[in-house]
Amino acid sequence: MLRQRATGLGETLRRWPLARQLSGTDLNEAATTARTRRLRSRLHGVRTVPSVCPYCAVGCGTLIHVQDDQIVDIEGNPDSPINEGTLCPKGAATFQYAVNPNRLTRCLYRRPYSTRWEEVELEWAMDRIARLFHDTRERTWIAADPAGRRVNHTSGIGFLGGATLDNEENYLIKKFCVGTGVVFVENQARI
Ligand code: SF4
Repeated sequence: MLRQRATGLGETLRRWPLARQLSGTDLNEAATTARTRRLRSRLHGVRTVPSVCPYCAVGCGTLIHVQDDQIVDIEGNPDSPINEGTLCPKGAATFQYAVNPNRLTRCLYRRPYSTRWEEVELEWAMDRIARLFHDTRERTWIAADPAGRRVNHTSGIGFLGGATLDNEENYLIKKFCVGTGVVFVENQARI
């Protein structure tokens, strides 16, 4: 009985990773467990497309993994000399922006004094925004300041951008605002 116990203890000690690493020559093998050997890559059978994070001018490289024409993951590209596989919190969340059941894909409109949102057609929403923009701009246009200097702007409209607007969208928004005399332009993103 004692001998059996001693043999069992000796076997347990021999399987102990630290003992295997100290006594063996192949550290990888010694550090590998049976469970590790059974693991398979979650990206097995997945097509990987190199891309660039669109959310700021740093231009971090990403890898977009696609399976059956669906994005299954987005991560930093270790081969990119810019980010070497890392991503900031915004870039790391790119997958959630692209694939998210909570993402709104229809226009929602809340009428003045209403307490509920209702779905409206995109065309209707665009027409309404254009009409309100035009009318407000006409009503609040300032051609010159009190000293008579030409300023040509409106202080009746402001533009607030969001973190998930990409570089191209922000470029066009700024151009649009400058061209239409909107001077209060701000963006939530700060990187
Ligand atoms: S938003 Fe973040 S991850 Fe994307 S390019 Fe800029 S720094 Fe890189």
